[in-house]
Amino acid sequence: MDIPSLTIDTIRESLLARRWSATELATEALRFAEAENPKTNAYLHFCPERALAAARAVDERIARGEDPGALAGVPVAVKDVIVTRGVRTTCGSRLLANYVPPYDATAVERLEAAGGVIVGKTNCDEFAMGSSNENSAFGPVRNPVAPDRVPGGSSGGSAAAVAQGTAVVALGSDTGGSVRQPASFCGVVGVTPTYGRVSRYGLTAFASSLDHIGPLARTVKDSATLLRVIAGRDPCDSTSAPIAVPDYAAALDHNVKGLKLGLPREYLKDLTSESGDLIGRGVETLRGLGCEVREISLPSTDYAVACYYIIATAEASSNLARYDGVRYTFRSGHSETLADMYRNTRGEGFGAECKRRIMLGTYVLSAGYYDAYYLKAQKVRALIAGDFRKAFEQVDAIVAPVSPFPAFKLGEKVDDPLAMYLSDIYTITGDLAGIPCMSVPCGRTAGGLPVGMQILTRHFDETTMFRLADAYELTQN
Ligand code: GLN
Repeated sequence: MDIPSLTIDTIRESLLARRWSATELATEALRFAEAENPKTNAYLHFCPERALAAARAVDERIARGEDPGALAGVPVAVKDVIVTRGVRTTCGSRLLANYVPPYDATAVERLEAAGGVIVGKTNCDEFAMGSSNENSAFGPVRNPVAPDRVPGGSSGGSAAAVAQGTAVVALGSDTGGSVRQPASFCGVVGVTPTYGRVSRYGLTAFASSLDHIGPLARTVKDSATLLRVIAGRDPCDSTSAPIAVPDYAAALDHNVKGLKLGLPREYLKDLTSESGDLIGRGVETLRGLGCEVREISLPSTDYAVACYYIIATAEASSNLARYDGVRYTFRSGHSETLADMYRNTRGEGFGAECKRRIMLGTYVLSAGYYDAYYLKAQKVRALIAGDFRKAFEQVDAIVAPVSPFPAFKLGEKVDDPLAMYLSDIYTITGDLAGIPCMSVPCGRTAGGLPVGMQILTRHFDETTMFRLADAYELTQN
């Protein structure tokens, strides 16, 4: 059983052919993941009891001759900002170091109902704030491709687990690029679905109008299968859309002839690096598959980073107000008054990046500055969404970089938060517009570092995005 080479299909085949049982696979996957973890610190904790119970349920279904589900026996890693009943969920924060949620996120419930086996919870930047996984209270994650480099963030643990082969697929969360950027840094597939496609119930809130749960996988097809399982209307999240979820994997027909692709002028003008060359080659490959490529313009791009860091911090400052030492686990032990208890709890519990964002967000929402910053940012957000709407009148999909550079060295950017923020330029626009977008591996630099190519499509048209990514992936093997 070679765990890192498994796919959803090969697992299903082996289970149905009785080559091994889901219980045997889960046992071996857990052993392998625990043995490999010291190399990357991708997992914060494992949940063997839950994994084995889920695997047993799959074996029982197979024994009864029932359909074992679309994810039967598949080892899954779940980012530790997504709640799991009875399994610690820390959000990478000291504040929640011992928090054991009383309920499951809808995405978790659905993936287990489909036979998925959760092996453990993955490391991430504290409350999903960061681009390198270095903001975790439990130590950084190492990139499995180059251990002296970051895996990207904030879903760095999920991307590393999939790249390392300790999970076949994983759940991450994306508010400004946190699924796509680590996927590109680790050489795996990462998907941010349309806002509202997947329920956010049980996803710890960072910036609610931007937060998405999204799949990571080693193949486009596996990411498509996982998305279908977790997607769809959920009464527990009023922003989840009552729109039918297509069978994405069945739509992968390897034929993208005639699709119109747009290359945003504003994204490519500054990209003269090796990453840019690889994206350029990717575009040529898509042209070779019969796509029509044309240049498009997304004129508001220059304002995207400022817009995102106003809206995201504003929402974060409000969402993080609940960590006050009263309702959740951590409480500072030496306070005389109630006000001191709040202050000390938050002062000792939050890391530097969360504090920076709470202060920024409180500032942009304050009387006197609300109109100047927050309201203006909302208007700019509408312009950015409008840019995409106009572009999609001419093209079926947009192809773009994910990150200006490949995985950087651990420690290289920790002291320069602004440089870290600026590196999110290509991913935050998709979140601000709420459209589906994904990263698909498009080769490696001369130094062997993976680079991802981004594909963006119209609201709720994940199918076209997956078809393009799958046709492209086929040319890479
Ligand atoms: N890097 C971005 C940030 O720090 C995105 C994070 C995310 O998508 N969760 O906010």
